[in-house]
Amino acid sequence: MKILVFNCGSSSIKYQFYDMPSGKVIAKGLVQRIGEKMADANQKTESGKEIKIQMPIADHEEAIAEIVKMLTDKDNGAIKSMAEVEACGHRVVHGGDAVSGSVLIDAKLEKIIEDFSDLAPLHNPPNLIGIKASKKVLGDKVPQVACFDTAFHASIPEKAYLYALPYEMYEKFKIRRYGFHGTSHRYVARKAAEMLGIDKYKLNAITAHLGNGCSMAAVKDGKSVDTSMGLTPLEGLVMGTRTGDFDPAIIFYLLKKGYEAKDIDGICNKKSGLIGISGLSNDVRDLEEKAKAGEKRAKLALDIFAYRIKKYVGSYLAVLNGCDCVIVTGGIGENGVTMRKRAFENLEALGIKIDDAKNAVMVGGKGGEITTADSKVKVLVVPTNEEGAIAGDTYALISGGSAN
Ligand code: ADP
Repeated sequence: MKILVFNCGSSSIKYQFYDMPSGKVIAKGLVQRIGEKMADANQKTESGKEIKIQMPIADHEEAIAEIVKMLTDKDNGAIKSMAEVEACGHRVVHGGDAVSGSVLIDAKLEKIIEDFSDLAPLHNPPNLIGIKASKKVLGDKVPQVACFDTAFHASIPEKAYLYALPYEMYEKFKIRRYGFHGTSHRYVARKAAEMLGIDKYKLNAITAHLGNGCSMAAVKDGKSVDTSMGLTPLEGLVMGTRTGDFDPAIIFYLLKKGYEAKDIDGICNKKSGLIGISGLSNDVRDLEEKAKAGEKRAKLALDIFAYRIKKYVGSYLAVLNGCDCVIVTGGIGENGVTMRKRAFENLEALGIKIDDAKNAVMVGGKGGEITTADSKVKVLVVPTNEEGAIAGDTYALISGGSAN
């Protein structure tokens, strides 16, 4: 079965085209600068054929029509006709408390995506535009499935998702912890269970998705029971450009100092984290180089980033009363040898001992354990594959199974 997976942003569409159930990627591509004077589109197939286009693309409907043309291109495409595409999977950021898994898209679900746009204004509207465009271009016969970043965290209990605000804030405005990166947390937890030979619903783990955005989750019996991101992706770990946890009174203080709410929003989301502390870069690779060369604030940014991870490891070990493994993924988790060392050193008292030799070679898409044989809690590097997980869910739903 051939399945097309879309990740629609406000001016871009990323896509991957899968053969399921093998999970083979037949083609992948990206359309950028939709709605601007000139858009770029490119596609690569598994057999190495490439297409690059530059032309004005007015909206998502035109972009998907262009993707159809590239996929079916006689010389450099991947398939003869779109009749071969049996389903589409879409990444959707926010499903709030209304969805707990991937679902077939109907009018009711579109309304849910719209309703939660308020909480994900940069993501849900383009996600929905992409879904509508995909339906229009591919026709009603091709089922469309939505996979939500929030869904895996729907199992978090009340005591972990409620903020200690007046209860009516939750009742009136749905203010609570939702969590994000759920597709990735779930994918790596399932993979780790496979790697360790543990039933996926018996795995107790701490998962850390460390990319441009970073979040951690406590997974008990295969289900998320807590996560570091909250109402929005701002809470929790230090990220490339986001603060993560900080005293909210800082906001009132800055307001008093003459800053406007929108400036503070920009500071917290775009100018903080690694870039804010170092003043140099939001990229861990750059900062490691600069730290080596003696730049103090580069080292400080990396130390603060690692220290926050360590605090969450301790906190989630307490939440879970111990666990089978800590899993790291995302660009930093999968490649950041020095960052992994920084975050997990001096945790022997909690049962974590990193093996430097194993840690050093676990890069570039390799997965495996990086702890010593006598480490009570294993640390595993597990490369994530969110698009693959979306294709898997879509396949499961279309074949009459359930996605989890
Ligand atoms: P996104 O969240 O956009 O998908 P990624 O998961 O690709 O991002 O992660 C991007 C981050 O991964 C970069 O900001 C960089 O800091 C980090 N990274 C990539 N390669 C390395 C490496 N070799 N060592 C340390 N960090 C790395």
